[in-house]
Amino acid sequence: MMTVRFWGTRGSIATPGPSTMRYGGNTSCVELRSGNHLIVFDAGTGIRELGNRLLKEFESQPLTIHVFISHTHWDHIQGFPFFLPAYEPQNTVHLYGPPGRDKSLDKILKIQMDSDYFPVELGAMSPNIFVHEMREEVVIGDLTVKHFYLNHPAMCLAYRVSDGHRNIVYATDNEPYQGTLFAQSQKVESSSDFPTYLDEKFVEFLSQADLYIGEAQYTTEEYREKRGWGHSPLESVVRFAVQANVKTFALFHHDPLHDDNFVDGMVQEAKQLVTLFGGKTECIGAQEGLEIQIS
Ligand SMILES: [Zn+2]
Ligand SMILES: [Zn+2]
Repeated sequence: MMTVRFWGTRGSIATPGPSTMRYGGNTSCVELRSGNHLIVFDAGTGIRELGNRLLKEFESQPLTIHVFISHTHWDHIQGFPFFLPAYEPQNTVHLYGPPGRDKSLDKILKIQMDSDYFPVELGAMSPNIFVHEMREEVVIGDLTVKHFYLNHPAMCLAYRVSDGHRNIVYATDNEPYQGTLFAQSQKVESSSDFPTYLDEKFVEFLSQADLYIGEAQYTTEEYREKRGWGHSPLESVVRFAVQANVKTFALFHHDPLHDDNFVDGMVQEAKQLVTLFGGKTECIGAQEGLEIQIS
């Protein structure tokens, strides 16, 4: 059994307020529990509440927490200084992420806690915080975690966690290489050109996932104005999910301009697209507090 809980579903910047109550205003953070393993995807502002919940549940019991960071844009790391379990010396926190373009991951995470930005340095948290740049598959007990480079204006990784039976893919902040063609509803031929090849590799990475937590930042119309920003139009994300025969696709990384009713509309549109593409994928909107069990 795997249990997924959404603690932050918003993209770009925290967006609290009455119009985002249902889907939530906190930025990216998803918890995955499998057996006694505790995995977290991203450390956006949602990780603060997760930390509070863990302290309440486990009190002073030592924890090992594996945090997989997609990339180091603010909305994916900003909550980490407020993640209280990382201050408890009995806890061990492994942070994984992509190597930076010109700085190490360790250095990038330390910079956000420089005294100009935050009163406590990374090194003053638990002595048991370890930063790992993802280079190969990570094995955590019976779980394996694979990564895949996404198309985004930063080094950005998708993760696929498997226990040999169940597979979960977390892939946010991603623009399809063939996005422009999709947005124009042109047919994409399976040619050997490189962008198509990379998109096909991504579909392979998603293949048969039980749950795909994927970004759906823009509608197809919005995307026309935002090509090259590193985010996806709904149409291409759904197309990939259907091509990969994903069981459930959770629309994630909601745009700050999208209120609850708007996201409802996008979920409906995603369902219609699945039918249009002849797929069976179930579509849901990722909601702060939502829990999904995969048995
Ligand atoms: Zn983001
Ligand atoms: Zn980003």
